[in-house]
Amino acid sequence: MDTLIPTINRLQEVFLTVGAEVIQLPQIVVVGSQSSGKSSVLESLVGRDFLPRGSGIVTRRPLVLQLVNIAPLQERQKTENGNGINQNASNSYSGVKAEEWGTFLHCKNQIFTDFQQIRQEIETETERTSGENKGISPEPIYLKIFSPKVLNLTLVDLPGITKVPVGDQPEDIEAQVQEMILSFISNPNSLILSVSPANSDLATSDALKLAREVDPDGRRTLLVVSKLDLMDAGTDALEVLLGRVIPVKLGIIGVVNRSQHDINTQKKLEDSMRDEQAFLQRHYPSLASRAGSRYLAKTLSRLLMHHIRDCLPELKTRVTVLSAQYQTRLNSYGQPVEDHSATLLQIVTKFASDYCHTIEGTARYIQTSELCGGARICYIFHETFGRTLQSIDPLGGLSELDILTAIRNATGPRPALFVPEVSFELLAKRQIKRLEEPSLRCVELVHEELQRIIQHCSSYSTQVHNLVAIELAYINTKHPDFADAAQVSASVNSQQISHCQAEALDGGKRWKNEKVAEEKAPPAGFGSPSKGRAINLLDTAVPVARKLSSREQRDCEVIQRLINCYFLIVRKSIQDSVPKTVMHFLVNFVKEHLQSELVGQLYKQTLLQDLLIESQDTAQQRTEVAQMLEALKKANNIISEIRETHLW
Ligand code: GDP
Ligand code: MG
Repeated sequence: MDTLIPTINRLQEVFLTVGAEVIQLPQIVVVGSQSSGKSSVLESLVGRDFLPRGSGIVTRRPLVLQLVNIAPLQERQKTENGNGINQNASNSYSGVKAEEWGTFLHCKNQIFTDFQQIRQEIETETERTSGENKGISPEPIYLKIFSPKVLNLTLVDLPGITKVPVGDQPEDIEAQVQEMILSFISNPNSLILSVSPANSDLATSDALKLAREVDPDGRRTLLVVSKLDLMDAGTDALEVLLGRVIPVKLGIIGVVNRSQHDINTQKKLEDSMRDEQAFLQRHYPSLASRAGSRYLAKTLSRLLMHHIRDCLPELKTRVTVLSAQYQTRLNSYGQPVEDHSATLLQIVTKFASDYCHTIEGTARYIQTSELCGGARICYIFHETFGRTLQSIDPLGGLSELDILTAIRNATGPRPALFVPEVSFELLAKRQIKRLEEPSLRCVELVHEELQRIIQHCSSYSTQVHNLVAIELAYINTKHPDFADAAQVSASVNSQQISHCQAEALDGGKRWKNEKVAEEKAPPAGFGSPSKGRAINLLDTAVPVARKLSSREQRDCEVIQRLINCYFLIVRKSIQDSVPKTVMHFLVNFVKEHLQSELVGQLYKQTLLQDLLIESQDTAQQRTEVAQMLEALKKANNIISEIRETHLW
């Protein structure tokens, strides 16, 4: 079975890699009548002399023999020394200085390097529970054999089938033993080695009968015919071995084990194998190549190999799936940076162009969940900003009383013939100033959007400040769209006359807005007092609850109309120029200078290493994933090799 060891060990590597359950090799169970040679067969399979054998009932408790393949002593010592510390501390065999040894479950800490002692311990332990006088016990003895020469395999030696109770055996000894045997061989993962001696009639074989009960199709039963050397003179087992008496699907293998005499004289296992072969050549020349302990071992290897191969497709699928998963993960980590400066330039350029594309609306991935980039800026200009401007009342916050007070303040000590232009100008400025706040808000919104595309900070509000300041700097009464003051006066005058007539009929209606003026009166002046440009509207307490004279009403209306007209002109211009300014000074500026600015700030030799430094986690994960992928590739190769391997 030596040929299987390297295969199993390599498979072990695969299992470690993919973290799958280790392939469970079938456990091999020997069954047969008492003294048929079961223990002898097992021993020759293991290749070591350690099981109690002999005539009468020797095996009286099940022996579960777990073989564990380990590295040769030399290799084990090398790795232990290499590690400095003993990394295998958790392994029960770390530090053991023997090539092969055994341990028992019932005395875990004791290491048996002498196989004679193992046999002794089995006997002692058997006697402990089953007494000294041939009693039996279903309680198994667990023995582990560690060796570089064994397969990872479990063998079970069982007491033989007996009919008549002897010694301390109970009346129902036959039933008890049968039950014990059945409990082991009914496990579908066990291979039944049914041992029948050649010197008794196969048809009476209790072993085969029991095996049939649990394996009616004979898919896991192998017949071993022992004691070929003990047949009566003139008889041979040829018919039996050829399967003509009872066919057995997996095969019938004849063996010659060591006789009691051989055991007594401590005949070596190798010598008995050689003699066995010679015996077979002499008596069964036609079958010699398909009989004997060695052939039995080979056959078992083949059966185990078939079992392994049956498990391989599933294992291969697992490896393939894992490989694909790890490859995807590895790809997602990208390549480690080699040329720092080129990479940085690439990143900056790509970023800048992505940024511009988002503003232009030419980005490769178009957002569908919300407006972004250029589209959002357009929305801000026309919806948010445009609508806010439209909703501003030219005369908002300016009551007739305010106007009147302003006129009076502007006139000074002398009564004036005409409405003083200064009052119009001051009031117009105050109203125009109200456009500044929404305009600045517009800049902020666009700026926020630009930041949202990327955090890019700088102040672009000054230009819009200036736009309003420009309007305030000069009230252009000669603006082509601005109504002529004289015309307004004239039209107001003519209207006023009819208004006065109506009022007279009315019995003297009070100034309709005076109440509002009372409530809304600002605490102090308008505009920014600190700049000293303001005139105080309420300084000279103009009596608020009184009827306006027709002159006052006329003056008020003139100013109102002028402000209204002028305000609309300015608002139109602001509504037009703010988006243009924002585009020019903010959006387009960012677009044009983003790349050069980034390169200027970031593309420095001293920064290169720091900027492109990879997080340790990523680097480590990439290495780990790459290693895993390598291991999976190797695992895949191993699986393919095993599938192609022909052991014979
Ligand atoms: P078990 O009770 O089935 O485990 O049988 P053992 O392996 O203990 O063998 C019983 C006895 O038969 C021992 O004395 C063995 O030496 C002897 N024996 C087993 N197989 C053979 C064989 O093939 N030829 C000879 N001559 N003796 C055998
Ligand atoms: Mg035995």
